[in-house]
Amino acid sequence: MNRMLRRLMIIALAIMPMLLSRVASAQQDQDFSKVQIKVTKVSGNIYMLEGAGGNIGASVGEDGIVIVDDQFAPLADKIQAALKDLGVTNKPVRFVINTHYHGDHTGGNEPFNNAGSTLIAHDNVRKRLESGGTAGNGGSIKMDVKPSPKAALPIITFEHDVIVHLNGEDIRAMHYPSGHTDGDSIIFFPKNNVVHMGDDFVRYGFPFIDVASGGSVQGIIDAMEKSTAQLPADVKVIPGHGALSNLDDVRAYTKMLKETSAVVQKAINEKKTLDQMKQAKILEPWSKFSGQFVNSDAFIETLYNSLTGHKGEFLKHN
Ligand SMILES: [Zn+2]
Repeated sequence: MNRMLRRLMIIALAIMPMLLSRVASAQQDQDFSKVQIKVTKVSGNIYMLEGAGGNIGASVGEDGIVIVDDQFAPLADKIQAALKDLGVTNKPVRFVINTHYHGDHTGGNEPFNNAGSTLIAHDNVRKRLESGGTAGNGGSIKMDVKPSPKAALPIITFEHDVIVHLNGEDIRAMHYPSGHTDGDSIIFFPKNNVVHMGDDFVRYGFPFIDVASGGSVQGIIDAMEKSTAQLPADVKVIPGHGALSNLDDVRAYTKMLKETSAVVQKAINEKKTLDQMKQAKILEPWSKFSGQFVNSDAFIETLYNSLTGHKGEFLKHN
């Protein structure tokens, strides 16, 4: 081997781990120091908290505090401080209800549990947090999930629904099967007429559907149609991500999911391949939903994998 080439190879081998670790840390280590928690009063004693990650819903009253989802661990102190600053109660966060297992909704579980909160979630949230695995749409979106420490695991789990009786309200978490994941719950605050829909309903465009974790587009459509049929017409809707919404927003989102999945189903019936569907840009009429996280091609993949039952080569569960 010539000397120059050998030298280049040594340099390349030396910097490779540096480059790789930089890519990895850019993905994992978000800087939370600048994140501020914005609190919005939704109705009565229900608040919505936005920082980084999924929206938090909070019931704040004389019995204490219940929160729905808890974003990321480094934000737990700021979330606690924002709740205290409301000046409503000095009592702690007694319960945390997780809408599903993803880290941007459960990252604060460990610090909240260590501070004395009781974690509640659907059975599959605990299972997936405990085992770790791979989240993704069965194609281009793929994320490794590390097993969570024991302190981050829900202590109380349920199969269909559970009610937390606090602050004069019967706060009800209802599981809807195989939606954004296989462990999603929608949480309804009946006295205040507010619902937190978790990531079954999001406002960032085409939704991420975690088919690798048992999610499906049909399950999201079912959850949206069943819940909107049961909820009061003027219920205020906290989405998993994005601005406060109402049932008209949920209906428009559901309509888009039904139309786009029908288009992909038709192409599947016509024996089109995934590549042919992307090349034909079959979701062009819904391009305003194409986002940074889930663009049109990634959503075609998602729908294709969901409708054909193809969950990628990395399925670990069930
Ligand atoms: Zn999610």
